[in-house]
Amino acid sequence: MNNCESFKGLLVGLLDGELSPDEARQVNEHLTRCAACRQEYEQLRETTGKLAAVAYIEPDDAVLAQVWKSPFSRAVRNTSLVLIIGGYAGLIGYGLFEFLTSGTKELPAKMGLAAIVLGFLVLLVQMIRERVKTYKTDPYKEIER
Ligand SMILES: [Zn+2]
Repeated sequence: MNNCESFKGLLVGLLDGELSPDEARQVNEHLTRCAACRQEYEQLRETTGKLAAVAYIEPDDAVLAQVWKSPFSRAVRNTSLVLIIGGYAGLIGYGLFEFLTSGTKELPAKMGLAAIVLGFLVLLVQMIRERVKTYKTDPYKEIER
């Protein structure tokens, strides 16, 4: 039985892993017997493989990753993070202080603000903890000297 045309449509599906197990078995069986389809399959595989490789190794990404991983940019990143978080915390603390000492009697508003600040602080602590954990388990830590 020679129905190469119907198998050709399935070759892409096989490459993409989109066929059902039964379909994949049928295509594989046909490929073992049919040199023409096998060649077609190899060509397809090569083409998609090349495309994937090109997409994977974007020069810009590689350069970016290099810069991103360098110790200098890591230090800059950490410093910026500390500055941003510190600035945020300072602003919120100042705002809270001003608000609470302004003599307003609007207790619900105060409680609302306090809840927001509390939520932010919890989030902040969690973020720092996550960051410390990431830093400790960073596989690149030892390489970056
Ligand atoms: Zn065939």
